Amino acid sequence: MPDAPPPITAGSMDTIFGVDTFSKHVMQKRLPKAVYKSLLRTIDHGEPLDPHIADIVAASMKDWAVERGATHFTHWFQPLTGLTAEKHDSLVSPDGMGGGIYNFSGADLTQSEPDASSFPSGGLRATFEARGYTAWDATSPAFLNRHGTAVTLSIPTGFVSWTGEALDTKIPLLRSMEALAKQAIRILQFFGSDGGITRVVTTVGPEQEYFLVDRELFYKRPDLVTCERTLFGARPPKGQQLDDHYFGAIPARVLAFMADAEAELFRVGVPVKTRHNEVAPGQYEIAPLFETSHIASDHQMVLMEILRRVAERHGLKALLHEKPFAGVNGSGKHNNWSMATDTGVNLLDPQDDTHTNMQFLTFLCAVIRAVDIHADLLRACIAAAGNDHRLGANEAPPAIISIFLGDMLTDILNQVEQGLPKRTLKGGMLDLGASTLPDLPRHSGDRNRTSPFAFTGNKFEFRAVGSTASVAWPNTVLNTIVAESLDYLASELEKAAGANPSAARMQAAVLGVLKKTIKEHKRVCFDGDGYSPDWHAEAARRGLPHLRDSVDAFPVLKAKKTVDLFKKYGVLTKAEVESRYHIAVEKYVKQLGIEVEMMITMTRTMILPAALRHQTLLAAAVTATENAGVDCDDTVKSLEAFAGLVTAVRTALVVVETTAAHDDDDPLRHATHFRSKVRPAMATLREAVDELETHVAADLWPMPTYRELLFLK
Ligand code: ADP
Ligand code: MG
Repeated sequence: MPDAPPPITAGSMDTIFGVDTFSKHVMQKRLPKAVYKSLLRTIDHGEPLDPHIADIVAASMKDWAVERGATHFTHWFQPLTGLTAEKHDSLVSPDGMGGGIYNFSGADLTQSEPDASSFPSGGLRATFEARGYTAWDATSPAFLNRHGTAVTLSIPTGFVSWTGEALDTKIPLLRSMEALAKQAIRILQFFGSDGGITRVVTTVGPEQEYFLVDRELFYKRPDLVTCERTLFGARPPKGQQLDDHYFGAIPARVLAFMADAEAELFRVGVPVKTRHNEVAPGQYEIAPLFETSHIASDHQMVLMEILRRVAERHGLKALLHEKPFAGVNGSGKHNNWSMATDTGVNLLDPQDDTHTNMQFLTFLCAVIRAVDIHADLLRACIAAAGNDHRLGANEAPPAIISIFLGDMLTDILNQVEQGLPKRTLKGGMLDLGASTLPDLPRHSGDRNRTSPFAFTGNKFEFRAVGSTASVAWPNTVLNTIVAESLDYLASELEKAAGANPSAARMQAAVLGVLKKTIKEHKRVCFDGDGYSPDWHAEAARRGLPHLRDSVDAFPVLKAKKTVDLFKKYGVLTKAEVESRYHIAVEKYVKQLGIEVEMMITMTRTMILPAALRHQTLLAAAVTATENAGVDCDDTVKSLEAFAGLVTAVRTALVVVETTAAHDDDDPLRHATHFRSKVRPAMATLREAVDELETHVAADLWPMPTYRELLFLK
């Protein structure tokens, strides 16, 4: 097991924050002033990187890293596997005289050439076409990856094919941020509020849910080891019925793990803020403070990695899968999203007199329009085999994408539809009835936890993202669809107001455009219970897309509407869009292929043998009892009943084996077969095995049960 990095001592949290990042703080201290300023222009204002400064930055970064124990460096990137990738190179080279010298040039920093042929390209590259490059993203701070004594300087990069096509999740995200910024600035200019604003950025704060299980138990479950989810497991007598886990006291071993993981995250500059128990037993959540989208996305990848790594040190395993256990809640990643100016103004902050805040209402309407027009794409960008276990079940958002606005905003939008809005609903104060407790300011509306896309005060929370997912892709989609609507609204506003409009003309223009937008797109707004069957019927009546599972959703990724959208805003070329589609479908097929193989193997080699042992014991009991001259009708009956359960398992296994043997050249058809034939067969087999589990002698059952996995901490 890897060692822990140096411990945090009392009162050192503030000084430990970011000590392992090559932050602005460090750069300011170490770089020549002109170089630092040049770099800041790239980081803060999005200006192109000056290639002349690379050597100086590299030398300084190398010294800093070596002082802190680094021996290697890596270009750290996010290929389309959905994971991160790194190839380490030593910082030391031979000095030509038999010794070694630390060496790290500007060229080493800015560009590297990993073999691109072994990463998924979704058809962008043939296997023999191997050339690909990583390029330094100077806007995301380099950091030290500590793994016991191995310390590696990790440099965030974008990954591109020799042909210039993005082979990663970061490059499109950066492109989408630029697309949105350009259109947002037009809206700000229209409202005359662009003074001093040179940039608009999108911000993201992703909340991560995960499970922890004991490491020893984990390794006794081949399904967890291979698929990160249990393929079998009878429900324990106690699950989450008592609602006693959410926000409960954090168990000691778990808290020690959390503190340790947070300390590591702090060191690399990930601003983690919140920790708590989640709804299911064994489930937890960690949330950082929000950051600019691409940095939040990088940090989210680091966070998942650190959770997994640190859990090992505490004899635990962190499960990030969307549905590790049937019968209790699954895990998601709430993607909190907003837009902000470089002067620090949150463009989705409604402020006090919201009804007069036309600029806010315009940004709000842009989001509503975007989500309505591209609800199918939002659904498709979070489609994955794992997430299918969550969405649409009564624990996660439904697969129908709708927006929760809350009473205050709904009221204002209704007013805009009628004419000039006159009031903003206020929440007032809440009197707790006990004089020693303070009166509390109350929000103007309640929360709604069933909505997949909820306005939560000054940001939107996209709740349908899966817990294993990188947030880069959903945010790329979100930014691009909102960029399109901002573009549309800016053009409509400019047209309606004309050149140099009077205040009255301007107001009329805004009200007119917003009124039309609200009328056309309010169907996507829904504040009620997203889990109820009534909503499904109502959503169908409203014509909202209901893509029940990933297989239904995947084709949206390559639809003409999607291709045109990404092309128009320079986020993805047609080939790049299609590659994302191919990769998503392929991954689905492969994941289910692995799950079904695992299921078959476990049934044949663990479950049936255990059942036979139990059956033999029963049979022996019958013989022994009869030999002793004692009536054993009961035992015979239970033997018969048990044999029946085993037969049910065998029968179900045959169906799984037969359906799984199918192959198809066409990946979507193959995926459809998995969805329609294999998955139902797997569900039947699971049911039979779970029933069997409740009858086999506990000491014969060949793997840890749910009771142990979920409750031993
Ligand atoms: P909630 O209780 O609504 O979940 P929190 O304040 O705990 O709200 O925030 C949840 C997440 O949302 C945190 O990661 C937080 O940093 C993030 N967040 C807050 N404001 C913004 C914003 N303007 N843009 C993006 N994320 C934000
Ligand atoms: Mg939240």
